[in-house]
Amino acid sequence: MNRVFNFSAGPSTLPMAVLERAQKDLISYGDAGMSVMEMSHRSPMFDDIIKRAEQNMRDLMQIPDNYAVLFLQGGASTQFASVPMNLSKGQTCCYVDSGAFAGKAIAEGKRFADVQVVASSKEDGYTYVPEVPAISPDAAYLHITTNNTIYGTRYNVLPETGDVPLVADMSSDILGREMDVSKFGLIYAGAQKNIAPAGMTLVIIRKDLIGNALGITPTMLDYKTMVDKGSMYNTPPCWPIYICMLTCEWIKSLGGVKAIEAINAEKANLLYDVIDSSSFFTGHAKVDSRSHMNVTFTLPNDELTKTFVAGAAERNLFNIKGHRSVGGIRASIYNAMPIEGVVTLRDYMVEFEKDNK
Ligand code: PMP
Repeated sequence: MNRVFNFSAGPSTLPMAVLERAQKDLISYGDAGMSVMEMSHRSPMFDDIIKRAEQNMRDLMQIPDNYAVLFLQGGASTQFASVPMNLSKGQTCCYVDSGAFAGKAIAEGKRFADVQVVASSKEDGYTYVPEVPAISPDAAYLHITTNNTIYGTRYNVLPETGDVPLVADMSSDILGREMDVSKFGLIYAGAQKNIAPAGMTLVIIRKDLIGNALGITPTMLDYKTMVDKGSMYNTPPCWPIYICMLTCEWIKSLGGVKAIEAINAEKANLLYDVIDSSSFFTGHAKVDSRSHMNVTFTLPNDELTKTFVAGAAERNLFNIKGHRSVGGIRASIYNAMPIEGVVTLRDYMVEFEKDNK
């Protein structure tokens, strides 16, 4: 077996312990004689799995009782539409434009609601997360992206919104750092970075925000439908829900989100320390907006970048090429990336700079 260090931004590397457990369960989950992929979502066994997945998520994120936890389909991109459909109520919806996915959320929001972009870092190449001005108390919500996957930026301090619900796309840092759920009206995240394989979207919604969907909202996209049916109005994404359950158990075994947040900081700082002491590598994100999940940097030219990527593969380091809109390198170092992978990349960076400066 030859596992590589996979720095993919998503779908991303999964914890080895989770893969091994899933492999063990693949032919028969316990004594079921079938895998989780094959069993009815209405079976007692799956009922136990989805309940444990939810409870694990509640434990890890300390989700208060007045929040519902949903396991949906359609990816974070479907939430770009679901959020305005369910929460706008004819009021103005405020958005922060902090990157490409925020831009997509804004564009989708405009199809269903009156959208106001209250802050943007677009003109500066999304190198930081913009400060949010005071927003109108009449706004339906403020939408932010807590971690910008492509640019490698994140909010370190959440904007204050008073009574206006804060809505967050947490796709690329969910479970990667502690978040006070009670500060949010709604959190959503595609699973394929820190939770499970692709195919599931986690939604955490404050219960008083449910039940106000626009008349045009499809049944499947109305949060009330899914809350009333425990995410099982139709067939849920059973396999990713099961992997979510396992991933949460793995995080618990490491000491919970607080513990993994510290490990993530250590991993990220290994790379940022090289960038900061280098005149060869240039970090894309401004220091006070730096992500601990996606580390983005450039080399002096495209030729060197190509050579760097090729040499990385020889060291078992894969999927480090930056997104086309930023160029350079992006190392996505989510929860499941072992520190050895980051150390290997760090050592390679130091060596590469010495040899090519
Ligand atoms: N938001 C963010 C921050 C993302 O990183 C991504 C995917 N990389 C998305 C939204 C879109 O997610 P999906 O592919 O699940 O629709």
